[in-house]
Amino acid sequence: MNVTELPIEDLCAAVRERELRAAQVAEAFLDAARRREAELHSFLRLEPEEVLADARRVDSVIASGEDPGPLAGLPVAVKDVIVTRGVPTTCGSRILEDYRPPYDATVVQRLKEAGAVVFGKTNCDEFAMGSSTENSAYGPTRNPWDASRVPGGSSGGSAACVAAGQAPIALGTDTGGSIRQPAAFCGVVGFKPTYGRVSRYGLVAFASSLDQIGPLARNVREAALLTRVIAGHDPRDSTSSRQPVENWLDRLDRDLDGLRVGVPKEWTGEGLDPEVRGAVEKASARLEALGCRLEEVSLPSSRYAIATYYIIAPAEASSNLARYDGVRYGPRREGEDLESMYLRTRSEGFGPEVKRRIMLGTYALSAGYYDAYFVKAAKVRRLVLQDFQRVFGTVDLLLGPTTPTPPFRLGEKTADPLAMYLSDVFTVTANLAGLPALSLPAGATEGGLPLGVQLVAPHFREGRLLQAAHGLEQELGS
Ligand code: GLN
Repeated sequence: MNVTELPIEDLCAAVRERELRAAQVAEAFLDAARRREAELHSFLRLEPEEVLADARRVDSVIASGEDPGPLAGLPVAVKDVIVTRGVPTTCGSRILEDYRPPYDATVVQRLKEAGAVVFGKTNCDEFAMGSSTENSAYGPTRNPWDASRVPGGSSGGSAACVAAGQAPIALGTDTGGSIRQPAAFCGVVGFKPTYGRVSRYGLVAFASSLDQIGPLARNVREAALLTRVIAGHDPRDSTSSRQPVENWLDRLDRDLDGLRVGVPKEWTGEGLDPEVRGAVEKASARLEALGCRLEEVSLPSSRYAIATYYIIAPAEASSNLARYDGVRYGPRREGEDLESMYLRTRSEGFGPEVKRRIMLGTYALSAGYYDAYFVKAAKVRRLVLQDFQRVFGTVDLLLGPTTPTPPFRLGEKTADPLAMYLSDVFTVTANLAGLPALSLPAGATEGGLPLGVQLVAPHFREGRLLQAAHGLEQELGS
């Protein structure tokens, strides 16, 4: 039996039944991780002793006859923007190099209560700002399919480690596409739940009105399984929803007959790589074969989505990142006075993309420009939402590409921030509107690089989204 290839439910059942020890599972994945880590650099921290100590704790719970929880012994890699008690959490930034959080994020706490084991901290763009993981202060992660290419970002380490079999599943975060875009680039499933579905307590804030935590997984079923554990109301996050979390797994195998699926015409037009377009066409045909009714729809305001996102996200970031000032957080660099201390601390601690966002955001919020930029963007954001509300009056789900291109090469877009920002053209709309969205693998390019397609559902319709994604996954896999 190859432990690293067991479906998660079988793996956890074997641990619960004492056919496998959690420590054995951890060892197996530590070996797998080691084999490719020098080439990929998926992890910012993976300390075998830490992982094994946690796994042994699960084994002793089992030995004492207590219920270890549904995810007994499951290693879960955690993006390094999610805090873990006593374990360094750097956000891919120099400014948090020495930060050891005094508490666990709610998602981490829920995973531990379910018997899971934190399996290291994964590499990411600094403060989750980027689409390639090249903005990490600790060096980039590489794409497991082709090491000359990026894994996507900002959750590039989480996507790469799952794709390479270094970990069975990982947590990522998605503010404008950072779960779905790397999932597409690495050939795995990436799921961003509805805004508010999963607590953000302990997620280091980038853009608080957009950020959401979710899984990067080998398949839809495992993504659903993990999300169920981390979802649900949390009194520590005032934006977390009280909507009950259903058992999404029960409905995964139901048929999709009669489901209405819209394909936004703005998502399949100019600028889309022909092989990505081919993947969307193939997915449409497979959904039709499953009994879905496909139709073209229009989201006219989505053409403003990138511009809107790049006002709102940097504005929120400029405010959220004010705390890294050498007083509250960050290693202090002394100066002659307070201002020069701030200047030195922040100049040395932040990388160029983070500084660019702080400047963009501060500008958009400054007196005299606030109405012209921030308020205008907030209004356009509402139009983006209204487009979705209108089309969801006639269709149940949307289908489109996850990214405009297959994975690009390292260095290809680093000199041109705008080209990098355009990687998110199809993903940011779901964040602006707070909708659940999922990327799943849909074949490969002629050169053997993974391609992804995206499904988007109305608020809190994760059940329908996962069901359709699961049905489509079975068809595309065959
Ligand atoms: N690539 C986008 C950005 O740089 C989205 C990042 C994210 O979702 N965290 O802002």
